[in-house]
Amino acid sequence: MKFGGTSVQDASAFLRVAKIAASQQEFSPVIVTSAMSKFTDALLGSFDTAKKGHSTIAFTSLQEHFDRHSAVSSELLGRSGQTAFEAELDLAMQELSDLLLRAERRSLPLSMLKDAVVSYGEQLSSRLLAEVLRASGIKTRQVDSRRVIVTDEEYGAAAPIWEETEKLVRLELGPIIENGEVPVLGGFIAASRSGETTTLGRGGSDYSAALIGAALDAREIQIWTDVTGVLTCDPRICSDARTIDVLSYEEAAELAYFGAKVLHPKTIKPAVDHKIPVRVCNSHQPSERGTMVLAESAVSPNKIKSIAHKNGITVLRISSARMLGSYGFMAALFQIFERFRTVIDVISTSEVSVALTLDNTESLEKIVSELERLGDVEIEHGHAVICVVGEGLRASAGLASKIFSTIDNISISLISHGASSVNMTFVIKEEKVNEVIKRLHNSFF
Ligand code: ASP
Ligand code: MG
Repeated sequence: MKFGGTSVQDASAFLRVAKIAASQQEFSPVIVTSAMSKFTDALLGSFDTAKKGHSTIAFTSLQEHFDRHSAVSSELLGRSGQTAFEAELDLAMQELSDLLLRAERRSLPLSMLKDAVVSYGEQLSSRLLAEVLRASGIKTRQVDSRRVIVTDEEYGAAAPIWEETEKLVRLELGPIIENGEVPVLGGFIAASRSGETTTLGRGGSDYSAALIGAALDAREIQIWTDVTGVLTCDPRICSDARTIDVLSYEEAAELAYFGAKVLHPKTIKPAVDHKIPVRVCNSHQPSERGTMVLAESAVSPNKIKSIAHKNGITVLRISSARMLGSYGFMAALFQIFERFRTVIDVISTSEVSVALTLDNTESLEKIVSELERLGDVEIEHGHAVICVVGEGLRASAGLASKIFSTIDNISISLISHGASSVNMTFVIKEEKVNEVIKRLHNSFF
């Protein structure tokens, strides 16, 4: 069971977690928690401040977050729990103050210091959660994730070393579980082979949960957050949007681009590889079943699971007679985007032109002036990408025509279909988004 930052943001959230954990005690859960919400950002901010030479200000900026931890502790813990946690918090504060000073003085490599600093979010939340669970009568044991998740030394986005992690997770957590205790671990943090603290990248707690669940061959991995799973479309557009019961991994991966609420495909890969279902649940509505992500999922009767969208898209069209019958044209084009570190989302080509979309236009001017060496460039702002996702989409005759006949009076800027068997994507003017989504949702759901 993994709990995100908002699921442990304050005392009442911690209490909800304790209730949810207690209700599943019979299944021998393992708990992974994120840092209290906003604390990771604050730690990263303080690191930057320290790096610029202001380590005292940096440390002071964290005080409100230390206080949030103390508030939970004094509200929910008994005398001994409070004493234990406060001692832990004091130590953490001393260590952080020292690390921030080192960052100012650059007395260790900065990337290494940064991971060490940011790791205190999960170090503290997992300590605190273990105490809260204990206070509510659950037998728990806090386990330092750095003892079980082994990574390379790519600080800030370290890659787990699976064989070693699997072995350690079983070795460390197995006996605790067997003993009837609930292990509580901080997500996101890990250690390199030489024992330095590393982190798995922003949002990495899901990754930790998937790794630990896969290593233990868990019955399922639950990602507890503040929404009820993945929805059929944006509920702000269609009030009758509903939770999708089951998604395949591929469907979930395609949807990931459209909203942070969907799991990042990379993070749940270990679970999918081991065929362990991942369930997205809402800690405010624990009795709802949420959305289950499986390695494979059945085709739903109407073939479509979800309609996602993203606004603020810019379309670029590059046409060039040089493109006809020549090789290397695409390579030259893509190199420009690579040079300006700009992600292309949707792409569609004809014999003499390419249309593509961007959501980041920071380097647009420079990109366009380079592209103009290859051909004529048109820029169209104010677009939106609509993505219809469903297992079996490519294989179903007539589905594309049903989609487009539903919106037959809307002009479409470009279409991408066939790259994935579960995804049909097209681009329209932003002002038409609500209408298009409503019509598609009405027609398919
Ligand atoms: N606390 C980390 C972050 O904010 C990891 C996580 O929440 O999953 O990115
Ligand atoms: Mg998070």
